Amino acid sequence: MNISSQCFDVVVAGGGQAGLIAAIVAAEAGATVCLLEGAPKSYRGGNTRHTRNLRPMHEGPLSVLSGVYDEEEYWDDLLRVTKGKTNEPMARMMLRESAGCVDWLEKRGVQFQPPLGGTLHLGRTNAFFMGGGKQLVNALYRWAEGLSIEIRYDAKVTDIAFENNRFLGAYVGDEWIKGKTFVAAAGGFEANVEWLREAWGPVADNFLIRGTPYNRGELLKLLLDKGAMQIGEPDQCHAVAIDGRAPKFDGGICTRVDCVSLGIVVNKDAKRFYDEGEDFWPKRYAIWGRLVAKQPDQIGHVIIDTKSKGAFMPPVFPAETASTIEELAIKIGLDPQTLRETVDQFNAAVQPGKFDHTELDGLATAGLEVNKTNWARPIDSPPYSAYSLKPGITFTYLGVGVDQSARMLMSDDTLSENIFAAGEIMAGNVLGEGYLAGIGMTIGNVFGQIAGREAAKYALNN
Ligand SMILES: Cc1cc2nc3c(=O)[nH]c(=O)nc-3n(C[C@H](O)[C@H](O)[C@H](O)COP(=O)(O)OP(=O)(O)OC[C@H]3O[C@@H](n4cnc5c(N)ncnc54)[C@H](O)[C@@H]3O)c2cc1C
Repeated sequence: MNISSQCFDVVVAGGGQAGLIAAIVAAEAGATVCLLEGAPKSYRGGNTRHTRNLRPMHEGPLSVLSGVYDEEEYWDDLLRVTKGKTNEPMARMMLRESAGCVDWLEKRGVQFQPPLGGTLHLGRTNAFFMGGGKQLVNALYRWAEGLSIEIRYDAKVTDIAFENNRFLGAYVGDEWIKGKTFVAAAGGFEANVEWLREAWGPVADNFLIRGTPYNRGELLKLLLDKGAMQIGEPDQCHAVAIDGRAPKFDGGICTRVDCVSLGIVVNKDAKRFYDEGEDFWPKRYAIWGRLVAKQPDQIGHVIIDTKSKGAFMPPVFPAETASTIEELAIKIGLDPQTLRETVDQFNAAVQPGKFDHTELDGLATAGLEVNKTNWARPIDSPPYSAYSLKPGITFTYLGVGVDQSARMLMSDDTLSENIFAAGEIMAGNVLGEGYLAGIGMTIGNVFGQIAGREAAKYALNN
């Protein structure tokens, strides 16, 4: 065994946003910190490097954000998407703390930009990183290097020594790294297809993983095996419908298809199966992965007509297009007659009203088994376009329990003395179901800061 003589105040596992922030906060408080990133340097930053924005609370204009997004509105949004599967005191604490996230990042070199247009409706609520998550990751690594944090790449934590609820040190293969405290920030298990299969059954084989192949949940499993409290359900996750042509791993944001609310979505039997206009896209896109996962062969197709062209963020793969619905059906492997009937029934059911994609316009269908409740315009203007859809898993919610100081809870409801958790690995504490665009980064930022602060405090006092 390779034993380093140094005992770090804080050992952090995971070099995405949550781990980086915890490491930086701890180092700024005067702690010695070792950051263990499981991926090689070229893949550092986990799912964080794919992100675009975070959702902070604000009582007035904040950096690139306009208007007000206060605790009550944020809480209502969270309650709605989680259907109550959240921990109210902890969630509210996080929402209040989120007011400081943008300023904290800006002070450490992260730059923001005004939001993009299209179907996103996020100008008031979501602060976009200039250059995306990679810029944020690079800025934070640069900041961490300036603080003399010891950063190791290819440093997957393979085991931890744990006695009487106390962390003693971490193993990276046969290397032993001693620490007074440990911050678990190693993401979820979304890239572990075998684990996904346990939760979802064989349909998981047809899932695409939008982010890093390095979030395999090995640390999560270790902590649960050592008695950490389990939070969340194994099949709860953020899953969006992405282009069926996306790669198995790491396709990132550009594989997303953002025109669902502008058109109709059919399964491989050419039948619609869910209200495409239920709510604004940022509040609904994260349910579409699950919806498609429940369809035969886990495949869907979104169909739009020329009226919707240019009204959404262009996906990386070109659409299949045709001048008739039947021709389009043949191109995408659907029965032409059935698709024609589905479109005709939909068009005939559209009620009069004014289309306005910037608000819930109430332009709906009536009398269908599955009605579209907003933005229902007839699909009648060629050329018609289709994008195939597959479930794209973003991140899983099963995690370890924590208290409001990000300290890990054990299954007997006691607290670990010196293990903290932040980011995806504990997201299920506030996000039991559903998703709100930008809240993943908010969770990682707020709990990353808390974990770093509390770990440093413990280490420097013990
Ligand atoms: C395509 C895509 C787009 C997204 N867009 C947004 C967005 O715009 N806004 C938003 O809020 N959220 C977004 N998310 C979700 C967001 O990425 C996560 O919520 C957030 O990045 C989680 O941060 P984290 O630090 O917990 O995890 P990550 O950033 O994934 O970091 C985890 C790190 O742990 C490392 N690791 C794994 N196992 C080990 C181990 N055993 N030992 C050591 N290290 C290990 C990994 O290499 C990885 O670097 C997006 C996700 C994806 C995939």
